[in-house]
Amino acid sequence: MIEFNIPPYVGSELGYIKDAIDSGKICGDGKYTKLCNEWLENRLDPAKALLTTSCTHATEMAVILSDIKPEDEVIMPSFTFVSTADAVVMRGAKPVFVDVRPDTMNIDERLIEDAVTEKTKAIIPVHYAGVSCEMTTIMDIADRRGLKVIEDAAQAIGSTYKGKACGTIGDYGCLSFHETKNISMGEGGALLIRDRENIERAEIVREKGTNRSRFYRGEIDKYTWMDAGSSYLPSELNAAYLYAQLEAFDKIQGSRMKAWDMYYEMLTPLKADGFIELPVIPDDCEHNAHMFYIKVKDIDERTAVIGYLKEHGIYSVFHYIPLHTSPAGMRFGRFVGEDRYTTRDSERLLRLPLHYGIKDEQVLAVCDALNDYFRGRDGGRL
Ligand SMILES: *Cc1c(COP(=O)(O)O)cnc(C)c1O
Repeated sequence: MIEFNIPPYVGSELGYIKDAIDSGKICGDGKYTKLCNEWLENRLDPAKALLTTSCTHATEMAVILSDIKPEDEVIMPSFTFVSTADAVVMRGAKPVFVDVRPDTMNIDERLIEDAVTEKTKAIIPVHYAGVSCEMTTIMDIADRRGLKVIEDAAQAIGSTYKGKACGTIGDYGCLSFHETKNISMGEGGALLIRDRENIERAEIVREKGTNRSRFYRGEIDKYTWMDAGSSYLPSELNAAYLYAQLEAFDKIQGSRMKAWDMYYEMLTPLKADGFIELPVIPDDCEHNAHMFYIKVKDIDERTAVIGYLKEHGIYSVFHYIPLHTSPAGMRFGRFVGEDRYTTRDSERLLRLPLHYGIKDEQVLAVCDALNDYFRGRDGGRL
């Protein structure tokens, strides 16, 4: 059987978790949280990185820090995970959806400006599959229209755009360390803060609205309630697991990249013969092998491929139901412009097994099965 995902485990996690327990401090912001924050700061180069309980919570924090209020509007793709919109809706604001580009499945930057109104406060680009959005255009629109940019970099740790780390280009970047992501702590995430002047308030929002972080640094002699906030600190146990993974970052990425490259090479003939489409990585982008997907003719073809692979012990999955067609999306959001690709391509997209430690022969077996499926029958071409 070839699993779709196996949560990453490198071997040093348990030792670090034991060390955290032995230290007598297992709540947030201890040794391992600090080590993880520093690793992210050194590697990605934001002004500050703060571990959080999830990417959803990091996005909520970014929305709070951007002063997004009820009735405000936030532009995002409809083709994304629910968290992107949830963080906005939780503040009473409105997600405004625009179409994606079919090559990267990222928000179509050329459609953003038409969706801007006097109520628009922010843009949330989602770096789908760890491939960066067209950030130069997005940052230019944001600068001209006075909007915040919150990058949903849940899938994009280690990805870059014009050499800069995804998540450090906009005002805020949100990473996920959920077990389905490249680097994991079970559940967890991080908020990346680009500008120094936003660090202090972020620390306050993350610590239930208190200035306890400054208190711990000895900068003040008592701490108090300063602002609205919540409890966004992960425990040291989770941070210890994450630190082991961050230390093994290059090894994990190497394993994923090798599988990704193999898929790409082995499936190129099926693309050349018009059976499938493969992911596109624009010139300015370096991806992080978060995902390998193919696109097939239509939803019926995809259902058949999933069934065929499953018969051969291979688990493949699809996602997302476009948010603007979901019950909550219809209630809370609005789609601007034409849905040319969001629905059509979300129904054609199929994710193949990819995880740390996937074996060459497993990738080969998936490619063989796809070859047999497409070559073995007439039709099915795009
Ligand atoms: C996984 C994911 C999230 C949510 O991450 P959590 O850490 O589970 O909250 C948000 N956005 C995108 C695009 C994701 O893939």
